[in-house]
Amino acid sequence: MMKQNLNPKRPSRISISDAPVTKDERIEELNSSKKGSPLMLAGKKDLLFRFIEKRSNILEAATIFDGIHNASTLSNRLDNILPTSKNRVKKSSNLDLATRIVNMVDPVLLLLAHLKSQEQQLENATSHLRARERVIPSSRTSSLLQEMVNVIETIDRTVRQKRSNTHADVKLNSLSLTAAQRELTYSKSNCPQDPVYQTCAFCDHPSVNELLNNGEIENINTVVESEYQAKLKVWNQYLKKKETNASTPAPKCPISGGLMRRHPKRGKESQQILLCMCATSQCVMENSNISSTCPIGCVNHQSGMRHPFEGSPFRSCSCPICTCKCNMAYYAKDLLIIQQKLFQCNLVDESLHKENKENNI
Ligand SMILES: [Zn+2]
Ligand SMILES: [Zn+2]
Ligand SMILES: [Zn+2]
Ligand SMILES: [Zn+2]
Repeated sequence: MMKQNLNPKRPSRISISDAPVTKDERIEELNSSKKGSPLMLAGKKDLLFRFIEKRSNILEAATIFDGIHNASTLSNRLDNILPTSKNRVKKSSNLDLATRIVNMVDPVLLLLAHLKSQEQQLENATSHLRARERVIPSSRTSSLLQEMVNVIETIDRTVRQKRSNTHADVKLNSLSLTAAQRELTYSKSNCPQDPVYQTCAFCDHPSVNELLNNGEIENINTVVESEYQAKLKVWNQYLKKKETNASTPAPKCPISGGLMRRHPKRGKESQQILLCMCATSQCVMENSNISSTCPIGCVNHQSGMRHPFEGSPFRSCSCPICTCKCNMAYYAKDLLIIQQKLFQCNLVDESLHKENKENNI
């Protein structure tokens, strides 16, 4: 199968539930005080109180970090973002506290990684001493930072869980289909003719089928267009007559027969929907393709061999399509925009990695 990749830097497999969790998503999740939330209002206050108590230790550690990296960014960032007054925290709304905690995460992560590596060094240097003689001064600070990181990790997991539950991420232009449409299995004859559309915008597998028949779509759209043109013709004739005779009566619609009171609108056009069939693609037997719905017949295109069955106690096919759960559906016309959005997610990801690298994490 020909591989078309409009964005060569796009990762070969990105599922939308894996896209980075944004600040806004974190704040929204942390702001909710439903039962089972990782941190209720009182918990947020308590966490921030302890940050106020540890404020000078944290800033001291950040200054050491900045010294090592010849900068003053981390201590400045933390100085600006760490809460200073218990009273103000007490009076803050749930949303304000959630926002503050989320904004603290990036610098806290940097500092935590630094403290941990220092603790490790100290641990190595003192490992010849008896355990209870080892004193690690920063450990209480780092356990507080770790606590915040744990909360955020829980939140990120919840956000990702919610995303994969809904299947359709509106922001990424994916569509919801009926249950019956989702049961469909891959069929070679429904594969798009243009190679650009043959691989899934989300998982990059060659498992895409057209949901609708192109001929039918064309027929529908031809009818829509010709009806519109017919109405337009009648309407324009009416406007012309009205110029000379203001009392010309409104015309009858050539399609519905009703009175036309305003400029006609074009009817809704039908559009091709692409559906990724990975979720329903599967093979049943290890040595045969009987009843297989896998578009690549589970063959590794590099080796020409079939992907092996693996695992225990239940052995199953290790083919990337048989194991992929993607069932994204999207308008063919949205392909480029989806790829651009995924590309942007990826850029955010890469810039984070870069920042971490620069800070030796
Ligand atoms: Zn897939
Ligand atoms: Zn897919
Ligand atoms: Zn398989
Ligand atoms: Zn397969």
